[in-house]
Parts: sequence; structure tokens; C-alpha cells
Amino acid sequence: MTGRDARLFSWTIGAAQRLMRDTQRLPHALLLAGPRGLGKAALATRLTQVLTCVRPQDGMVACGTCQGCLLFGAGNHPDIRWIEPPEDKKVIAIDQIRALGEFLQLRPHTARYKIVVISPADAMNIQAANSLLKLLEEPPADSLLLLVSSDPARLPATVRSRCQRVEFMIPARAEALSWLRAVEGFPADQAELLLDLAGGAPLRALTLQQEGFLAVQSELRADVEAIAAGKADPVACAARWKSRGAQRCLEWLETAVMGLVRARMAPGTLATSAAAQLQVAEKGLDLKKLFRFLDTVSGRRQILAGTVDELLLLEDVLIRWSRVARQK
Ligand SMILES: [Zn+2]
Repeated sequence: MTGRDARLFSWTIGAAQRLMRDTQRLPHALLLAGPRGLGKAALATRLTQVLTCVRPQDGMVACGTCQGCLLFGAGNHPDIRWIEPPEDKKVIAIDQIRALGEFLQLRPHTARYKIVVISPADAMNIQAANSLLKLLEEPPADSLLLLVSSDPARLPATVRSRCQRVEFMIPARAEALSWLRAVEGFPADQAELLLDLAGGAPLRALTLQQEGFLAVQSELRADVEAIAAGKADPVACAARWKSRGAQRCLEWLETAVMGLVRARMAPGTLATSAAAQLQVAEKGLDLKKLFRFLDTVSGRRQILAGTVDELLLLEDVLIRWSRVARQK
């Protein structure tokens, strides 16, 4: 196998069935959109695998033995292109998209379509997205473009509007919890907290657990509380946060602050939230300032996807936090 995850889940199987019902008549471009950690890329992989299999079973399971499957498994099927950010980079650049023009002009070798999977599609820079737009405006015959994105708002509207959108939703809490608890070796007593930290996305919760994020988040929580109490230096904390991974630290902070906002707006309704654990004098916090801070955190988290000075950015956020938390 190529090592690519092609699993379907109880919460993605419906979308998979709709897409694979009539594979002869798929649109030229699909945008698989929704929060990360739901298996969107895995579904794109499964669809690609099934479309290149000569005799898929039930239309949803590749046989694993035909020529198409063998080529797919070896990772060199001539009708497939996987477009991802190069290793150590965050961005999909224009030359990666430009190269697709020639590929898509050729007739498929063995499959019904020439398939391109762009994941995460929002990693395309603006030049790359514009280059893709040209392909979307005049799609070559028998081409299928699969765009996967957890943050589709970052794609140009012109690109989005030329794709048929497949929306992925956070599954019901009970469904997500029972899936997590069935994962071998998963600590069942941590499922609720991890699912909260993951915004309800089961695969994200599993990743957080595997990365040991529970320990990290209790450190982050301690830092945030200490800054609020005037007992820690935001700049010193920022340096620590950078070493723990700026992106996931800001993601956590966003979830935590969102929880604080919710707790302020509807006191007592909070069941089990990661942020409920944030013991910051929530009574005294100014809601308006909290909202503005939440906007800042969300904005900075998005900026972080590009090339910025992570340390400066974290310092800025945590200094702002000390102001919000300490002006009562
Ligand atoms: Zn096959």
C-alpha cells in the first residue's frame, strides 16, 4: 500500500455512498470541506482508489488485486497525481499546479478519470490557486479534481464556486465517543476531554492523544492562569509555547478562550469543556474584551499557517492576554 489512509467512518460513509453511487458521472471538481480530523483526505483517497480499481466490490471497496489496485498500492498509478506541500514546507506552489495542465491533457491510461488530489487545498498560495482556476474554468475531458480543505474560506471564492462542495460535519458526541473508546489502547476516561480539545473531531482527538497533548495542555493552562494572576512573564511563556509547537498551542488557546466566552454568556450551561478547566477568574473578565481577544487569537492562528516569526506572534498574543485578564 501507499500508506495513505483510505478508511471510511460511520460519519463519512454517507458522503462516500453518495459519491460512489454513480462514478461515471462525477463533476469535474469536488471540494471536500469541513473541520479537520474527520477523515476527509481518507475519503478522497478511498474515492481515488475505487475509481482506479477495475472491479470494486459493492462499488466502495477496491479489489486489491487488479492492475489498477497494484499500481495504486505501489504509489505510481499513471492516472493519479497527489498535490501536497513539499516536505518541510507549508505551501503548495504554482509550479506544482502548473505541471497538472500537461498531465490532465492526456487521456487516462486505465482509469475512467485522470485524478488530482490537492490536500490541503488551502495550502495553495495565491499564484497556485489562480493557476488552478484556469484548469477549473476549462476542465480537460475525463479529469477529476479533488480538493480537500479544513479551512475553505482561505480558498479564493472563484475556486470554491467552481467545485461541487461536499460538506463534512462533526459527528454526534455519543458516536464520536464510542468510536474513540473502541480504539485499541485509547484511555477511555480521557475521551471526553480530548474530544473537547479537538472541537468534537474524533480523528483529531486521537492525534492529540497520540502526541501526548493532555500533558502539554495542562502546562499551557498553568501558563495562562499564571499570566492572568500576574505570576508569569508572557514573553517567557511565549518561548516555551514555541518549543511546544506554536500552531497547536494557539489552537488550544482559541478553544479555551471560546469556552470562557461561552461560560460568560450562558453560565452554568457548560457541561464538560476543555475550557471549563481554565480556572481564570471568569467572573471578572470583560466579555467585550474577551471577544476581541478571541478574534485576535483566531486571526493569529491563521497567520501562523504562512511564514511568520512564531515567537513574536506568541509574545504578542500572550501580552494581550495578560492585559485582558488583568484589567478587571
Ligand atoms: Zn482493483
